[in-house]
Amino acid sequence: MARILVIDDDPDMRAMVGQTLKSAGHKVILAADGREGVARYRTSPADLAIIDLYMPNQEGLETLREFHTRFPEVAIVAMSGWPTAATMLSIAQKLGAIGVLHKPFFIKELIAVVAQALGGQSQARRCPRCGSHMVLRRAKTGQHVGRKVWGCSTFAKTKCGGMREVD
Ligand SMILES: [Zn+2]
Repeated sequence: MARILVIDDDPDMRAMVGQTLKSAGHKVILAADGREGVARYRTSPADLAIIDLYMPNQEGLETLREFHTRFPEVAIVAMSGWPTAATMLSIAQKLGAIGVLHKPFFIKELIAVVAQALGGQSQARRCPRCGSHMVLRRAKTGQHVGRKVWGCSTFAKTKCGGMREVD
């Protein structure tokens, strides 16, 4: 089980993604835009944030950049739809997204991308320092900058900072 924040302005999409992830056993936090997402994250940190790239108030890419900068412990998956999905998602990956979803997508694709970002459904991947589970993310400090690493998911609470290279 992981804590997953879903940020999407489309209520149907938000509910569908949320329900799917709840059915898969995760705790889900929903937000309608980037500002609400940041506020929710502050009170209830998540292991993974799923961010839609078209949203009012705070543009999706801006939200993604903000999460990657301010909350480096969280794994990010970006969602985007036709017609500019390919371009948007490739920018999202440069800004720190570890997984992408082209809308519309199948439920099994959502499950697979989430499972990969969370270190696999077995949850067997453990932090070398504290034993908590690890999430896949893009490193922004140290010798691994820009590369995919497994990072400890408790960073926000304990500042554990456990990290290791993707094998
Ligand atoms: Zn740790």
